[in-house]
Amino acid sequence: MAKHLLGREVAAALEADVSRRCAALREQGTEPKLVLVRCGEREDDIAYEKSILRQAARSSVETEVRQLPEDSSPEEMKKLLRELSGDEKLHGCLIFRPLPEGLGPDRREICNALAPEKDVDGCTAASAAAVYTGEGAGFPPCTAQACLEMLDFYGVDCRGKRAAVIGRSLVVGKPLAMLLTARDATVTLCHSRTEDLGDICRQADIIICAAGKPGLVTGEMVRPGQTVLDVSMNYLPELKNADGSLGGFVGDAVFREVEKTVEAISPVPGGLGRVTSAVLMKHVVAAAERSLE
Ligand code: NAP
Repeated sequence: MAKHLLGREVAAALEADVSRRCAALREQGTEPKLVLVRCGEREDDIAYEKSILRQAARSSVETEVRQLPEDSSPEEMKKLLRELSGDEKLHGCLIFRPLPEGLGPDRREICNALAPEKDVDGCTAASAAAVYTGEGAGFPPCTAQACLEMLDFYGVDCRGKRAAVIGRSLVVGKPLAMLLTARDATVTLCHSRTEDLGDICRQADIIICAAGKPGLVTGEMVRPGQTVLDVSMNYLPELKNADGSLGGFVGDAVFREVEKTVEAISPVPGGLGRVTSAVLMKHVVAAAERSLE
């Protein structure tokens, strides 16, 4: 039976490190601060906002929420981001994405109004370039970085290993493929048009599921010795919980099948979600430290 890679263990280690670094910053007169920018009232955004605020409290990072109405114009959004970029008391900024469709087809470009050194969730083009080149300001998206933190915490060395990353989004799969490549893994980046996903998974030493498709990775697609990280959070209203209630989250891997074969697997829930918000705080503290350099 596979070892379970638990988000709370990884997050606790990150929180301890962040708290220590926050204390050192405070001694130098700097209060690490994160601002959350939310446009509109999407339920998902509000739930994520609450969990970030709880995480910030645990990590003793100051926070502020700036909210804009859903019908804001791109100019209003950019003006706010420029204002926050110039505020020396703020070290990190997270923009809830995707931005409302009303902001137009170029809405991703709006994020580029944020200074890359405050882009703690890797949403600007400059941050993407930094992930690609390994140089420059900005940070990788927190979820992609959370996967590396989990591998590091549990001592999974990527060097020379084959990694299959399933999903090629800008927030998870693509940056993660770059980060793993920088760690000397040999990466296969899979997507909805990939043929023979089962073969690719079986050949891999590390499988990272980020497709948002429950049931995608089955017991037949894995072999002994592998590490599986399941990033996906798929809500299933029909899922039966132990207490008889309905509704819950699952990943892309069929957990009960896959855990019988592989060496280690992160559960959903209880895996990477908690690590992602802990990484966000780590990035805020790193941004605050860099601001003193
Ligand atoms: P996304 O933008 O919808 O991207 C999904 C990716 O999966 C796409 O590249 C898609 O391929 C690929 N895909 C879809 N069906 C596939 C299939 N049958 N086989 C192989 N690849 C397939 O999703 P996302 O924003 O990256 O999120 C992915 C999952 O991660 C979601 O469940 C989300 O909830 C979760 N997530 C978790 C966290 C966290 O903190 N734990 C953070 C962010 C996201 P194409 O490009 O060909 O369409």
